[in-house]
Amino acid sequence: MGDYKVPDLSEFTEIPALQDGSMSHSRPYVAAPEYQEPLGFPGELVEDWHDQAIGRFGELLTQSRALRVYLDSCVRCGACTDKCHYFLGTGDPKNMPVARQDLMRKVYRRHFTFAGKWLPWLVGAEDLTEEVLDDWYSYFHQCSQCRRCSVYCPYGIDTAELSMAARDIMDHIGKGQKYCNEIIAKVHTIGNNLGLPGPALANTLEGLEEDIEDETGVKVRLPLDVKGADILLVTPSADFFAEPHVDGLMGYAKVFHQAGVSWTISSYASEAANFAMFIGSYEQMREVALRIRKAALDLGVKRLVFGECGHAWRVAYSFLNTLAGPWDFLDQNYPIPQHICEFTHDLIEQGALKFDKSANDHMTLTFHDSCNVARATRMGNVPGGQFEIPRAIARAVCNNFVEMAPETTREGTYCCGGGGGLLTDDLMELRVKGAKPRMDALNQVVQNDGVTHMIAICAICKSQFSKVFPEYGMEMDRVVSLHQLVGNAIILDGQETDGETNDETEAGAAPAETEE
Ligand code: SF4
Ligand code: SF4
Repeated sequence: MGDYKVPDLSEFTEIPALQDGSMSHSRPYVAAPEYQEPLGFPGELVEDWHDQAIGRFGELLTQSRALRVYLDSCVRCGACTDKCHYFLGTGDPKNMPVARQDLMRKVYRRHFTFAGKWLPWLVGAEDLTEEVLDDWYSYFHQCSQCRRCSVYCPYGIDTAELSMAARDIMDHIGKGQKYCNEIIAKVHTIGNNLGLPGPALANTLEGLEEDIEDETGVKVRLPLDVKGADILLVTPSADFFAEPHVDGLMGYAKVFHQAGVSWTISSYASEAANFAMFIGSYEQMREVALRIRKAALDLGVKRLVFGECGHAWRVAYSFLNTLAGPWDFLDQNYPIPQHICEFTHDLIEQGALKFDKSANDHMTLTFHDSCNVARATRMGNVPGGQFEIPRAIARAVCNNFVEMAPETTREGTYCCGGGGGLLTDDLMELRVKGAKPRMDALNQVVQNDGVTHMIAICAICKSQFSKVFPEYGMEMDRVVSLHQLVGNAIILDGQETDGETNDETEAGAAPAETEE
């Protein structure tokens, strides 16, 4: 544990007493030139940083009408003030969404509004001084871009967009964040966030095939770089090695096997994550997305399926066509792209999968809605599908499922505390404190309903909870992948079982998937 106090859990998350400046020391490492320059940003803070920052700010205002509207339309109603998990966990008033916005709004007013130019003291306008820039670096790296505040704002002001713009401006003057920029550079050079090269990936996948065969007696393949496969799976690289992510990957493989489809992973685009969204860089986001397009074309696949990753699904669902489309070379009879949960859910609906739900009876489960999935995407064809489809899968594969308090789930879900490019050890205090609202809600169902495990469908959420659970006195393995549960319960054709299939979901005989 670091040099800070882990918040006490409470029955309901209460509005904390204000602690002015209590998190002003929290800031991630600044990117060194070796992490800045590969992305086309200055290596270090440029001499004329003020003028360049204002210049870039002006460009962003021209490119994004939403940014100007967000900066103009706040009426200071206060509805957002207690909605941010970082404010609730730290008590620092600058972590209130409106105060975070004001760090940018005051500079906007000073340089881009008539009143702010001539009567700055009347409208709260302020220049971008060194002190303000320090505040930007600190507090725009205390926003996980989760968009919870925008749900409660009567004008829908999205602080995440401001945080992305602020980070973009800081990148352009040479004050980028090491964690994100280092990771983006690795995707450009090696193909994934981890820097895992192709041969190591091949070994890993072979090892997982052996594990599945040992467990089930069935040869389930995890194919790599197979030309002519029907489906390209793009998944977060954490799925290749970390717990509980890797159990989810084995679950996807079992579902693909049972569906009888041909699929592959690409060593060139072995990463679903796109950290360029966190730094607000459209150009970088596009470059990362274009790798997926190239892999799909090179391998000649017909479909694109994304694994369990929250922000990757946001980039895929909301932006993939703009960034790297048109995808007219893929089979138009399927969603482009498709989420692995949609894929599995369709098969369940068709009765094409058999489950022994009792395989998950040692757990009582609850579901954590990942913020990017919940508030920035959809699944299926019905509004709210992003909430209902994962829950329908969970209910199909386990007997014991409990919901957390409604104000903390679905659209109102709390961020895990590590999203938005903040999943780095130099921000551990922020991550632990920011997790408090989710931990309070989880603790409630642990105490009242005997919940033992929490399901997540986001790689960042899984990593974050594995790290912060012990800080709150819980075992790190209490977070599980949704497809880990699917993988536990699925009955593969020819699988060696002990004959105990009393809870099995009735299923049709044909495993073949049908078109949408
Ligand atoms: S987007 Fe999320 S992290 Fe950022 S200010 Fe709003 S609630 Fe807080
Ligand atoms: S809820 Fe919206 S309008 Fe109200 S203070 Fe917050 S950002 Fe401003």
